[in-house]
Parts: sequence; C-alpha cells; structure tokens
Amino acid sequence: MRILVANDDGYLAPGLAALADRMRNLGEVLVIAPESNHSGASNSLTLSRPLTVREASNGFLYVNGTPTDCVHVALTGLLPERPDLVVSGINNGQNMGDDTIYSGTVAAAMEGYLFGVPSIAFSQVEKGHAHLDGAAQIAAEVVERFVSDPLTGPILLNVNIPNRPRDELRGMQVTRLGKRHHSEPVIRAANPHGEPIYWIGAAGVAKDAGPGTDFHAVENGYVSITPLQIDLTQVSQIDTVRRWLGSGGS
Ligand code: MN
Repeated sequence: MRILVANDDGYLAPGLAALADRMRNLGEVLVIAPESNHSGASNSLTLSRPLTVREASNGFLYVNGTPTDCVHVALTGLLPERPDLVVSGINNGQNMGDDTIYSGTVAAAMEGYLFGVPSIAFSQVEKGHAHLDGAAQIAAEVVERFVSDPLTGPILLNVNIPNRPRDELRGMQVTRLGKRHHSEPVIRAANPHGEPIYWIGAAGVAKDAGPGTDFHAVENGYVSITPLQIDLTQVSQIDTVRRWLGSGGS
C-alpha cells in the first residue's frame, strides 16, 4: 500500500505529522506539502512560475506552491509509481458544507481523485489541534477499513472530526454537505498610506444543518464522512436553459 500524504496548512503543520505517523503503520508513505500555509487555496495550480521540491530533515517534501501543485507534481512526474491512496490533512479547522469549495485540504484530495486515485480529506472541526491524537486515530481507522475492504468506484471522502478524545467520539456517520449562510462582510481598514485594505471575513454560520448533514453529525459528537463528487452540472436546469435559449439552444 503506497500512501501519498498532503495538506494545505503547510509541511510544518502538526496535523500533517500526526497523519503521516499513523499512515506509516499502514503502508509506504510519502509526504508532500506546501512550504507555507495555503488554506483557502481551493484547486489552484501555479502556472506562472516553476516549482521546486525540497526535502525537510524529517523526510517530508515541501513545495513552493499550492496543495494541488503538491499532489499534481507527485502524481505526474515525481513518484515512480502511482500511489494506492491520497490522504490530506489533518486540517486545522473544519471543511464542511460550502467550505469544501474553498478548501485546500479537500483540493489536495480532489487532485488525487481527478487522477483516479482513491482520496480522503481529514479535518478537525475546531482550530488549535486539541485532541489531535483522536483525529489521527480516526484517520487510521478509516484508512484501515479502506485497506481491508476497498470501496469500489471513484472515491473522494471528506472527513470532519470533532475535537474529542477517541473514546468520546460517538461513532461515524455518512452525511451530505450542509450549507452555510453567506460569509461575514469583509473587514475594511486603511494601510499606513491611507489606502483602503480589506480582510476577507469569516465563513457564515451553518444554515442547512439538519439531520443527515455534516454539520449535524459533528454537532452531535460524530465523525462526519461525506462522499464527494466533482461534476458541477445543474442537471435539473439543462432543459430550462434550453427553453430559455429557444431556437438558439440544442
Ligand atoms: Mn488549512
């Protein structure tokens, strides 16, 4: 079992080390991660300059690029053989509902998925790494399950883990993504030259968070596991848009 480990918080992040440590018991591990924090990078690729891959003293590879760059480089030229699994995380903070659109953690896993490699993203719900051991244990259990009983078909799992010791987690629930209210407004300030500057505001609070959603599961002390797909087509609107275009559409 060859396991590629990546993240978006950067190669020095505690969640990456915790995940890599657990994966070493399960297979041959290669870690590749961004040189600096790229949370919120989504699926961005660096196309305007070349990338360098360097090795840290602990053997982790780090790239002066995005989470997607890391997995892309690994899969398309750096690794001699294709991995059997890509895991990403353990992110410092939740990636639920609309977060998955912006998340670099999910994007790193998604890059594996796009190349046909089963991929799993792991995030801790609260920032600060409290009970990181519990989250790493869950990651190990999910991957062990995958090793002993592989899911068939294209696999992209998004796992969110409440910050609790392992024995205080109530179990795992398979969920759908919830939705958030719109983000908080940008914070406007001024730089020393009097020009306006803007900080992106916080994510909105959960809106669609009822039973069956990722938000509901973690709120109730469960690990949330959401199978994701990528096709953004709004199938239900295809006919509507055809009619709207009239003779122009086909
Ligand atoms: Mn992050």
